[in-house]
Amino acid sequence: MNNLLDFTLEELKAWMKENGESAFRGQQILSWIYKGVKEFDDMKNIPKPLVHKLKENFFVGMPKIIEVYKSNIDGTEKFLLGFTDGNLIESVLMRYKHGNSICISTQVGCAMGCKFCASTIEGKVRNLTTGEILSQIMVVQDYINERISNIVLMGSGEPLDNYNNVIKFLEIVSAEYGLNIGQRHITLSTCGIVPKIYELADKELSITVAISLHAFSDDKRKEIMPIANRYSIEEILEACRYYISKTNRRITFEYALVKDVNDGREDAKALGKLLKGMLCHVNLIPVNEIKENTYKRSSKKAIEDFSEILKNHGIEVTTRREMGSDINAACGQLRRSYINTQEIEGRVKW
Ligand code: SF4
Repeated sequence: MNNLLDFTLEELKAWMKENGESAFRGQQILSWIYKGVKEFDDMKNIPKPLVHKLKENFFVGMPKIIEVYKSNIDGTEKFLLGFTDGNLIESVLMRYKHGNSICISTQVGCAMGCKFCASTIEGKVRNLTTGEILSQIMVVQDYINERISNIVLMGSGEPLDNYNNVIKFLEIVSAEYGLNIGQRHITLSTCGIVPKIYELADKELSITVAISLHAFSDDKRKEIMPIANRYSIEEILEACRYYISKTNRRITFEYALVKDVNDGREDAKALGKLLKGMLCHVNLIPVNEIKENTYKRSSKKAIEDFSEILKNHGIEVTTRREMGSDINAACGQLRRSYINTQEIEGRVKW
């Protein structure tokens, strides 16, 4: 059995042809699905024999909503979602004036080992399929009965470590036949897997790439991000310049501020020097404190000073507003605390 959400239009048309059907049926079926009709019997223009074939060969794989936590502070909703193999992931819905935005996961767990992140504590369990990445948006849209217009691939997992499935996801989510969410409304966040940034650039998509930089020197970066042992900051910046030259898109650099680790004035000056003149934007993220490590959030004053110094270097800066601080909104926290309270793995299956 195949998950229909794993299929691009071209792939489904090819399947139709191989199975003695007209290719245009592929378009009809996908347009039903992405309009929200997931039962083959309800697809009015599909002949009964094909409905039968679809039932024999396909399913529409949607995750189960295990829990929904809503922030009393800002209305952010965190969804704990379960797949049929018992694995759990998190997706976070944030409501802004300009529309609904969702932060989705691309892997169960993560292999990258960033010290400040709860998603990686038990390593990577597995990649999510294209359909599993897409279905996070669909299940949340169904739940709130509203459209989602912005996507960030910033939940658990390193998107470029699941490259092929993520590329296919980007095609379907932005296609007219799919969820039709414009690529300019999609941000992919990576810890900096250099060869994949070049590959992505060559696709010439119009998504925003966000690099989790978090330090201005390789030595400092190595302290918090093991990926820094593989690729230097200079190699990452070179790949970013290539991305900009191919796409003309501004790069976002994510910088999680950790008290007394990377939030000093000297750090800000060095970062400003490093990025000066580049088509980029820095997003400062006051780190979420998790009980698995000792990192502390920077003071308000340190955050303001850091931001000011970058601005003095001509760099655009924003400070991420904390969303859902009362609901374990940092990536990976909810899944871990849920699993810990379930004690027996079998209880999270159904
Ligand atoms: S921050 Fe991202 S890349 Fe780093 S461990 Fe967490 S999920 Fe993986």
